[in-house]
Amino acid sequence: MTRTDRGTVLIDLSLEISNQMPAHAFFPSPIILPYVTHEMAKEAGLGEPGDPMTYAINYISMLEHVGTHVDAPYHIGEQGASIDEMPLDWFTGKAVCLDLRQIPDLGDIDVAELEEAEAASGVKIDGHIVLLCSGFHARHWPNPEVVTKNPGLTYAASEWLADRSRVHGVEGPSTDKAGTKEFPNHRVCRDRGMIHYEWLVNLEQLLGKGEFVFHGYPLPWRRGTGSPVRALAELSA
Ligand SMILES: [Zn+2]
Repeated sequence: MTRTDRGTVLIDLSLEISNQMPAHAFFPSPIILPYVTHEMAKEAGLGEPGDPMTYAINYISMLEHVGTHVDAPYHIGEQGASIDEMPLDWFTGKAVCLDLRQIPDLGDIDVAELEEAEAASGVKIDGHIVLLCSGFHARHWPNPEVVTKNPGLTYAASEWLADRSRVHGVEGPSTDKAGTKEFPNHRVCRDRGMIHYEWLVNLEQLLGKGEFVFHGYPLPWRRGTGSPVRALAELSA
């Protein structure tokens, strides 16, 4: 948790990105390697006698959908906006986190669970960014189950969200249950113009906090299908 100079605190909702970290079960892990190390840079003889200038740079090769990321509409629909085309106000706004920790591995998040969790949160969802705390990440990271056992949103739950909100976010690699062929949430997102964040972490810290502000800005990849983000919750101190 970080205090800001405007009387708020920031909670980091982002997963650390590292070489060969777990990715979605269909996807390769990222490759992040030193390109130049301080040791290598010494050979260039930069700087001045007595104060050499060295530098370090890493080489990054990864899919857009690794770690904490946001999907662009283009990811799931040929005619959808790519990440660089999306208005920035989609990536920040009033938010609420729902407690769904009773949902088991490979379980369904359905309308009844969302309604119950909404009531418990004390926030009436009306244009909020809705974050879903399933406890999944804490249960399994960094074990193999983290890409094979995540729960998913049903069609009806996804429609329920679409009626109230245009953005939601989940723990784990997907809003749809691991192993699904139907992809109910991704298809409802495509058809109802919603986007979502995947692989958020630390959501437990937001339970019982009521309404807060979410920030999660993507990089503007040209024709990008999504992007890693630094996702944050900003709360009154
Ligand atoms: Zn997705």
